Amino acid sequence: MISKKRTWLDIIIIAIALVISALLIGLKFLPSEGDLTLSVISEGGESEYSLSENREIELMSNGISLIIRIENSSAYILSSECPNGICMKQGRAKRAGDTVVCAPAGVALIIKSGGVSHGDAVAG
Ligand SMILES: [Zn+2]
Repeated sequence: MISKKRTWLDIIIIAIALVISALLIGLKFLPSEGDLTLSVISEGGESEYSLSENREIELMSNGISLIIRIENSSAYILSSECPNGICMKQGRAKRAGDTVVCAPAGVALIIKSGGVSHGDAVAG
């Protein structure tokens, strides 16, 4: 009888251990490193785009038109009408915290970790 009880306890302990390890594995797959967001700040405000979708974003800021490209989980300024074109030489932003700035246009690309926020910030 004692041995039977112990077996049941063992099964329960193993089951709990499995649940805990499943949870830990599950946590690994939650958005962290892989889910990055591109935040584009311009004259018109701030917009967010997922870095996992390749696309081109055209925008006009301070009278300067720019094309921002998201490609292979990185973002860069593909073309800009700004006078010096430094922004196009800044390369690609791809890790959280990376920034590309076009000062004449007042545009900044900032990589943020985590997915695109859905406006859970409360204004006012
Ligand atoms: Zn520029």
